[in-house]
Amino acid sequence: MTGLGAQMHALVERLYPLCRSITGDGVRDTLDIVGEYVPLTVHEVPSGTQVLDWTVPQEWNIRDAYIADATGKRVVDFAASSLHVLGYSVPVSATMPLSELRGHLHTLPEHPSWVPYRTSYYTPDWGFCLAQETLDALPDGEYEVCIDSTLADGHLTYAEHVIHGQVPDEVIFSCHVCHPSLANDNLAGIAVATSLARALAEQKPYYTYRFIYAPGTIGAITWLARNAQRVNGASPAHGGRPARAKPSVGEGPRAGGKVKHGLVLACAGDPGRLTYKQSRRGDAEIDRVLRHVLAASERPHQVVEFTPYGYDERQYCSPGFDLGVGSLSRTPYAAYPEYHTSADNPDFVSPAAMADTLAVCREACAVLDRNRRYRNLSPYGEPQLGRRGLYDALGGRSDTKQAQLAMLWVLNLSDGEHDLLHVAERSGLPFDTVAAAAGALHGAGLIEA
Ligand code: ZN
Repeated sequence: MTGLGAQMHALVERLYPLCRSITGDGVRDTLDIVGEYVPLTVHEVPSGTQVLDWTVPQEWNIRDAYIADATGKRVVDFAASSLHVLGYSVPVSATMPLSELRGHLHTLPEHPSWVPYRTSYYTPDWGFCLAQETLDALPDGEYEVCIDSTLADGHLTYAEHVIHGQVPDEVIFSCHVCHPSLANDNLAGIAVATSLARALAEQKPYYTYRFIYAPGTIGAITWLARNAQRVNGASPAHGGRPARAKPSVGEGPRAGGKVKHGLVLACAGDPGRLTYKQSRRGDAEIDRVLRHVLAASERPHQVVEFTPYGYDERQYCSPGFDLGVGSLSRTPYAAYPEYHTSADNPDFVSPAAMADTLAVCREACAVLDRNRRYRNLSPYGEPQLGRRGLYDALGGRSDTKQAQLAMLWVLNLSDGEHDLLHVAERSGLPFDTVAAAAGALHGAGLIEA
């Protein structure tokens, strides 16, 4: 894992300088680099496209931006950090006194050496972000301001990577790719997702795994609008709004859809403990899996309730979709001082923390992939395990007693209602032991999936 942690950190450092936003070449350049690690299908959705209740905005691109003093010296320079310009700034080229310029300057007085991250996606505006101490050092006088940007009809860009499993039912992993030079808040999630995709590709997973790299909010909404049928099992109605499949008793609206489980990855590399935010449903299989994996691993962690805020879980868990999608992070959204500032830089995320987040994702996939409900085909009294060689098969194992007990638990709870995760929880046995017991019983023809 140490090597993987270093690889993920190297990817974060490589992506860090790029000026990403919800559209534009920064996203494309980011996806080009990620595409060197895993093959991506890149989608370009034209500006003006109706997506659910939203419209794909104009595409924003920026080449240069600066504030220069009377001598021509750049006192704030976009080339030094993509955070220096207000995201989606309209172009400007003017000279004005500092008193007038101040209305367009954003600082963080409580952290005078940090540069804040600010955007204005849906209200035309321009501005600069800078350290309070930089601003304090500027003498009054005339300043030249330049933002060489374009806002024009273009596209919104997102990408997918799919690992085909044994069944078409899908697990989605989603991360946002719309933040400029911010390491924990987007790049660590991208790096962990990419390493996870590479690891899963080396095995033949049970589920089909779909990785979604999309700009926050508008990107996830665009993905949902274009995938509503697969997600919900119902055709989208006019205007891109999916008709909600009529749920049958005991089934949510997503019962007919292909997307069965999912995780939003964000803030995946800071030094804090892990946080699992449950899906809106709270009792979805992904919620049970993450709660189990985190508790069993004895890692410091917290499990929190769903809130309709944070990252794109709020889209995947909107009531019309109500997917079993939770969110895995370390310190949550907005809960660390470095959040949305220049202090969220590659030094703030560590190879070890990203490797730890990745390990939890892999453990969760390993449980999810083997979690099934079985039916005991010999439910009247205990079947004779010895006669079927099932005791012999355990000989020499260091955990013989546990393995035997696991078989008895699986046989007892395989009534078609309880899955293996339930067996592990009720018996207190490790999921791996329970899954191995189910494998042996299945091999002996005593249970059926
Ligand atoms: Zn953010």
